[in-house]
Amino acid sequence: MNLSQFQNYTAKDYTKAIQQGNITTLSKAISIIESTAEKHQTLAQEIIEGCLPLSGNSIRVGVTGVPGVGKSTFIEAFGKILTKNNHKVAVLTIDPSSNLVKGSILGDKTRMIELSTDPKAFIRPTPSGDSLGGVAHKTREAIILCETAGFDIIIIETVGVGQNEIAVHSMVDFFLLLSLAGAGDELQGIKRGIIEMADVFVFNKDDNNNSANIRIAKADLERALHLYPAKENGWNPKVLTCSALNKIGIEEVWNLINDYIKITKENGFWDAKRKQQNEIWFEEAIKANLFSLFHNNKEIKNSLSNYKNQIQKQSISPIKASKELIDIFTKNIKSK
Ligand code: GDP
Repeated sequence: MNLSQFQNYTAKDYTKAIQQGNITTLSKAISIIESTAEKHQTLAQEIIEGCLPLSGNSIRVGVTGVPGVGKSTFIEAFGKILTKNNHKVAVLTIDPSSNLVKGSILGDKTRMIELSTDPKAFIRPTPSGDSLGGVAHKTREAIILCETAGFDIIIIETVGVGQNEIAVHSMVDFFLLLSLAGAGDELQGIKRGIIEMADVFVFNKDDNNNSANIRIAKADLERALHLYPAKENGWNPKVLTCSALNKIGIEEVWNLINDYIKITKENGFWDAKRKQQNEIWFEEAIKANLFSLFHNNKEIKNSLSNYKNQIQKQSISPIKASKELIDIFTKNIKSK
């Protein structure tokens, strides 16, 4: 890879090469988007603006589940079915663990070996951002670029922890939760909020001696789902089972996604959801831009550590301190 070729690249050059499906350029452009360096931010913005009108033509699928449930095995099997059917598949992985502890849950092992050598697939881990919101923001932008490069199925993979699923849910068309059975209280393991978000629950590892447990867990979950009110999108979440390892039951997941697409495109929910997600993106962009404007402000930089000291000494409350800082910020902006 000759990266010096990018030295004189304008945003237009990037957009054109991405549109032609050039993977090296796509990767480089995603790195620019992820970069926090100021010099990259304008270029990143211009690339996104250039790509936006060319994007949107894909199915965005969120895949989540606890570590070890079989996400990468599943995505590999699923992705191979898609590429065999002439789809181009991009897999963007969000790994929140790398924010919290050194190392990462998703990135440490060799994952998706078959898919990563498939010319119709593109796999890209999202490095940790300074906040989960930040990561989500960058992932949304990476989706736009991948779509411009002709990837028509975008899989967003994430570890099932807390806020993370909410962020992913706000950027995908279809949300898939991979689960395990056999550990006993499966329903407790599936958090209430996730039940409301998932469009399909897939019990993985339906093989060896595990199948009987899976039948029970599936019936339990189906019973529980009946108690939830019908969703506004006209879709009742389904429960499937598969063995990602043996590549059994994967095609059924794809068929189900196609059923979902048909129903929600017919009843208008597909487009409505995309529009709503754009609004969420807009709100998040405002927050992110304000946040960066605030923290890059010279006056704020000068005052911040002083306020932090005072807060530690409890000579000022965090709320009062934040209000005073915002006052400093607004006065400084006005005087410019
Ligand atoms: P991730 O952490 O969710 O990405 O999980 P991995 O895909 O890395 O899988 C974790 C472990 O479960 C690996 O040892 C896989 O080989 C195994 N595994 C994944 N899917 C299946 C399956 O369908 N059946 C069985 N028996 N093992 C599986």
